[in-house]
Amino acid sequence: MLVVMRHGATSAQIGDVVRAIEDMGYRARPMPGAQRTTIGLVGNDGRVQESRLVGLDGVLRIIHVSQPYKQVSREWWPEDTVIELDNGVKIGGEDVVIMAGPCSVESREQILESAHRVGAAGATVLRGGAFKPRTSPYSFQGLGEEGLRLLARAREETGLAIVTEALDTDSMGLVAEYADIIQIGARSMQNYSLLRAAGRAGKPVLLKRGMAATIKELLLAAEYIVAEGEPRVMLCERGVRNFDTHARNLFDLTAVVTIQELSHLPIVADPSHGTGARAKVGPMSRAAVAAGADALILEVHPDPASAASDGQQSLNLDQFDALMVELHAIADAIGRRIARAVVPAHG
Ligand code: PEP
Ligand code: MN
Repeated sequence: MLVVMRHGATSAQIGDVVRAIEDMGYRARPMPGAQRTTIGLVGNDGRVQESRLVGLDGVLRIIHVSQPYKQVSREWWPEDTVIELDNGVKIGGEDVVIMAGPCSVESREQILESAHRVGAAGATVLRGGAFKPRTSPYSFQGLGEEGLRLLARAREETGLAIVTEALDTDSMGLVAEYADIIQIGARSMQNYSLLRAAGRAGKPVLLKRGMAATIKELLLAAEYIVAEGEPRVMLCERGVRNFDTHARNLFDLTAVVTIQELSHLPIVADPSHGTGARAKVGPMSRAAVAAGADALILEVHPDPASAASDGQQSLNLDQFDALMVELHAIADAIGRRIARAVVPAHG
């Protein structure tokens, strides 16, 4: 439920509404807006006795949020959420943000070369898994903390922000120390204790859609993170399971548009996992920008043939350079721009 205050409501009036909500046993989230303050009431699943609130001074009206995902819905907050990273890059605003890098951090040389090259081509966020969720227990599992240290080194040298996956609650604190964005992988989308831990970790979160998850389930998973007090969540479409074996996944671009209708959170598209094949990544990246994605996350490797994971869907560095040129043109055609580095790269 939302309590919309009148334009010019005083802080004392807002305070009275907050206290009334808390007296009823709920939490109050005041949200100052451009026109007026709205106070969200969280912690209830049913209808609240609104008679105690409507009569209070400064209250304009009460809105009932019909969706089960409350705080991430557009009903709750009609404006787009813009997430600003420590390097000044904003996700969810006018600019389209490019996140790129290898599937896994494999070595110092591999991640530094990737970082310098994707940064020079115009990416502003470096991806790279240090803890890898692998389908087989015998596949490369990632370098762990050493991988995080290498990512931090790459950030120091290039100014790129870091997005990297947290696989379990045990390593959440460690990942949060190094990451600018904590990635929650498709396989973890409904790991509710992990979602709660991510919501308490103090960093923005990139939440990937589960392989067979509906959009509603994705939004409810995001709600877990926001309910813990972390509003900086971005949703990621990375393809869902498909009956057709021609592609690894079915890259659901309609989800990009649907999520923008239903939620104020930024939407990131992952054409690498979405298609699973290098030749399909460029066309679907262009399509995702055209469809209105706020960011792309792309797998790029200096030598895809030798990659420890997901080489078949990784672009090489030259292919990434060429794609960036095309993405600028697509962004331009829809009145957007590819986000530029705010802190200039050095080193
Ligand atoms: C990844 O980003 O490398 C990854 C494992 O993605 P997903 O969780 O979408 O499979
Ligand atoms: Mn991968």
